[in-house]
Amino acid sequence: MHALFIIEKKRDGKKLDHGEIKYMVDGYHRGEIPDYQMSAFLMAFFIRGFNTEELNAYTSALLYSGRIMNWKELAGPVGDKHSSGGVGDNTSLIVVPLLAAAGVYMPKMSGRGLGHTGGTIDKLESVPGFNAGFSKGEFADQVKDIGLGIIGQTGELAPADGKIYALRDVTGTVDSIPLIAASIMSKKIAGGAHGVVLDVKTGSGAFMRTIEEAEQLARTMVELGEGMGQNAVAVISDMNQPLGRKVGNALEIEEAREVLQGEGPGDVRELSLVLGANLLKLLGKTDTLEKGYSRLEKLLDEGEGWNKFKQMVVRQGGNISFVERGVPEAYCVSTIYAEHDGFVSSMEALHLGKSAALLGAGRFKKGDPVDPYAGLVLHAKVGDKIEKEEPLVSLYSGSCGGDLKEAENEAVRAASVSRIKIEKPSLIKY
Ligand code: URA
Repeated sequence: MHALFIIEKKRDGKKLDHGEIKYMVDGYHRGEIPDYQMSAFLMAFFIRGFNTEELNAYTSALLYSGRIMNWKELAGPVGDKHSSGGVGDNTSLIVVPLLAAAGVYMPKMSGRGLGHTGGTIDKLESVPGFNAGFSKGEFADQVKDIGLGIIGQTGELAPADGKIYALRDVTGTVDSIPLIAASIMSKKIAGGAHGVVLDVKTGSGAFMRTIEEAEQLARTMVELGEGMGQNAVAVISDMNQPLGRKVGNALEIEEAREVLQGEGPGDVRELSLVLGANLLKLLGKTDTLEKGYSRLEKLLDEGEGWNKFKQMVVRQGGNISFVERGVPEAYCVSTIYAEHDGFVSSMEALHLGKSAALLGAGRFKKGDPVDPYAGLVLHAKVGDKIEKEEPLVSLYSGSCGGDLKEAENEAVRAASVSRIKIEKPSLIKY
């Protein structure tokens, strides 16, 4: 087999077989196929598309490039959650402890933020001492003992995806439904959970801009899972504006704490409960979504999710009094105000995500350091009534080291006020 002939075959619209796809993925992973040939291969797939057999073959090549976890030693169901990426989305910090409180083992592997999207590991690492990088054995012991844990992506699970994702990021091949579906599902299947709830974001701050694209990604991932023995369910949720009112690492930890203590923004609470109820149902721990939702709501309101969250932070070395006290005051570098009375008509997630990243909350290249205290507080959301000179968005920095002027420009572009009434958008698309 030759990489060149395989690339040409796909370029000409012909179907590739399992062996050819595996040859490319394995060869690239081992360093035998160079970046330029893998880029051409990915671009051919991006343009020509995949059929079901090709998608299964590509996903299994990613999956079998590493190990597959199994959690046989755990006595109960094992769940997992994944979001296709958003701004201000801290639901993993709520769903994981809440499901653990409901008796589901939740060993979650999470990523770091890149570009305008945040990452759960960056958020947790804003808690002094929190360790997201320990060994598999220690992680397994922790999950067995306390029912949950969140660690960073390890190089052992679907490692070929990590290498290919970095290449896709710089070759214009990220926003392809089959490539995203294979990338996400290979990691989820390798994680070894009995069921996974997928939060597919749609809107200006998401990879899937339209609801139709989000539906297609959701369907592709669920079917891919079914074909490969992984139970999955998808929820489609809005990402035209950020979730909640805080965007940034320590800021989102603070907001997660508020929700786990029965307060905080309603949209974060609602999405967390809906995702959690879907996972409970998928795992057979409730017969209906309504019952699952009520059960989780009760656990949340009784503080059981918060107790599990604290247990996890302490076990992973984090300073829990930092979380309990709330984050230290960062510097407020700027506030954007409404120029006239009206209704908030946009809080564009893409621009606000960029603004937070420019302040230092995110990174533009893998490995960039992040400022744990940088970020944004949204004083109003789409559909809220607002008066002239009321604050719309405040920008925070821990170090004043980011690009403050550009961050401010992005926030100004994001927020607008209309003189006519704007309805509040729906959060869960269905
Ligand atoms: N998240 C992933 O893990 N992979 C993608 O391709 C896109 C989002």
